[in-house]
Amino acid sequence: MNKIEHIGIAVKSLENSNELFSKLFGVPSYKTETVESENVKTSFFKVGTNKIELLEATNEDSPIAKFIAKKGEGIHHIAFDVDDIVAEVKRLTNAGFVVLNDPEVSGLKKGADNKLVVFLHPKTTNGVLIELCQEIVLKE
Ligand code: ZN
Repeated sequence: MNKIEHIGIAVKSLENSNELFSKLFGVPSYKTETVESENVKTSFFKVGTNKIELLEATNEDSPIAKFIAKKGEGIHHIAFDVDDIVAEVKRLTNAGFVVLNDPEVSGLKKGADNKLVVFLHPKTTNGVLIELCQEIVLKE
């Protein structure tokens, strides 16, 4: 793993939270993106070299809706940048971690911000939802 790519925060209203976090960080959100497959609407902030992702559920089936119903708003996941997501998943599953979407089984999933993503089950990571992400490099 290279570094923390971003921290994800579950919010009830992206509109309200965009305003709140712009005030907090002193910069506006630079991007909003809906990820249909995950039933979420996301918004990104750059704070120095760090990135914060806000996530709002687009319907009741969204993992974010379930998270907020159970735990309320707050830190949802920590995402780590990796070079080779398939190799990293193999390394981690061999080490006993459980992935929520195994690329070998369901194929690679595209997340927000032009990334391939895999989530590790929080039951194997002390309750912390870990996202692995690999930047999709577009070939010319
Ligand atoms: Zn994320």
